[in-house]
Amino acid sequence: VALTPDEKQAGRLFRDVRQASLDQWNEADPPGLRALVYWRVVRHECPAARGGSIGITLREVYEASPEMHQCYCGKVGMTGKNFPHRDCDGSKVISPAGQFAFIWKEGTCSGSGCGLVVRTSKGRFVLGTDRPAEHGRANSGREASARDHDSGLARA
Ligand SMILES: [Zn+2]
Ligand SMILES: [Zn+2]
Repeated sequence: VALTPDEKQAGRLFRDVRQASLDQWNEADPPGLRALVYWRVVRHECPAARGGSIGITLREVYEASPEMHQCYCGKVGMTGKNFPHRDCDGSKVISPAGQFAFIWKEGTCSGSGCGLVVRTSKGRFVLGTDRPAEHGRANSGREASARDHDSGLARA
């Protein structure tokens, strides 16, 4: 899928806003362990299991992008209460809702009294059509995830 320059701009903005929000969350509530977004299970030596290895299953958090506008003044943003600007002459939709998604993961150790939290530091930016939410897919196995590819934007 080739994105237009407008869509790319919208995608970058969405990614940056979501990553900043994840950064804030990690800072406010630091996880005990950091995970990569590709992991499904993290093992740790759990004090609740006398140092035995316990697998923590990571749950996917899939944040779909909202509809995004370019205002007449040129500013690109997520459609909301204060955007597009009321004082500007108008705006156009440059990215429909769900065109992009930001994915990260979180899990908590089930060992009694442990409660270790594992969370992704860096989320993953994808195209909604390339990579729908996990629960929306027939195959959510490891293979399916290995076939996923990052869009060029993720590395831009
Ligand atoms: Zn534990
Ligand atoms: Zn404006």
